[in-house]
Amino acid sequence: MTTQLPVFERLTVIGCGLIGSSVVRAARAYKAAGHITVADISQTVLDRVTALGIADAVEADFGKAVAEADLVIFATPVLAVADIMASIAPHLKAGATVSDVGSVKGSVSEAMQAAAPAGVHIIPGHPIAGTEQSGPDAGFAELFQDRWTILTPIAARHDDAYALAVARLASFWRVLGAQVEQMDERHHDLVLAVTSHLPHLIAYNIVGTAADLEEVTQAEVMKYSAGGFRDFTRIAASDPTMWRDIFVANREAVLDVLGRFTEDLQALSRAIRWGEAEKLHELFTRTREIRRGVIALGQESPEPNFGRDRGKH
Ligand code: NAP
Repeated sequence: MTTQLPVFERLTVIGCGLIGSSVVRAARAYKAAGHITVADISQTVLDRVTALGIADAVEADFGKAVAEADLVIFATPVLAVADIMASIAPHLKAGATVSDVGSVKGSVSEAMQAAAPAGVHIIPGHPIAGTEQSGPDAGFAELFQDRWTILTPIAARHDDAYALAVARLASFWRVLGAQVEQMDERHHDLVLAVTSHLPHLIAYNIVGTAADLEEVTQAEVMKYSAGGFRDFTRIAASDPTMWRDIFVANREAVLDVLGRFTEDLQALSRAIRWGEAEKLHELFTRTREIRRGVIALGQESPEPNFGRDRGKH
């Protein structure tokens, strides 16, 4: 599909934190939307968006915010989506596309579909891009450059109008700089449980464990953090509300992957106990290859990171 700019005439983003404000900034910078309205539960956020001048309008009333929109994107914590969808449903324009950026797709898609009026295209989405920061000041237009955005279209919708809406939303994300892939929503939730949700759970857990240790003081944990711990602290600094919602909304897939992880950890623990050096070496060699694969796919820089603070802090 060739892209004629703007891809959508009127865009409304509900929830203007890190991701929402990045969508807004990128949509304006790359002319993906003609007019941009921001809605948020927080008046402080709306005032900040006005001060930053990144949107054409801010609106505290969600019904009014979506009334003329061709594309509505939810960028709130995932458990907020169901109630907002129910409240905006009567105000949506026929033919409008409603999407989101949530990190969980199965339960969020169900919540969106449950309240959607006929004639509106529900197309859940998830940009695999972010930082550990939150709020409208944290966003930036380049966030999605060369990152993947996964769309999880509703499997039961086979009509041409829906297919066109999916192609149009994919164009929107490409204009924002992303590469776009479609995926079944359950598969998305399993993939993300492995690549994102479990790593965050491990980080939250290890930072919590270190903080609770009695024999090692918190001052020592922080002082000697360059040994590896500090990389976990970055991930464990991610927004508490957002991550609470992710684990509640993706319970099944996370528990599935966590079960497998716990078994592998037990095996590793046994290998250490019995001094099975070869087994350890074989695993660490395989994992190093995975890191190289991530770099080869352009999802990380090859720059050595361990010396990153030299001369900076
Ligand atoms: P964020 O910076 O905390 O922004 C969320 C925004 O939504 C805040 O302005 C928040 O206001 C607002 N909000 C909360 N509840 C709301 C409600 N009921 N109605 C309207 N607005 C509401 O979070 P974020 O990192 O942008 O995450 C937003 C979504 O993107 C989440 O679903 C997350 O799963 C997904 N995501 C995040 C990342 C990432 O790395 N951060 C990456 C990909 C996808 P308050 O601050 O006043 O609560």
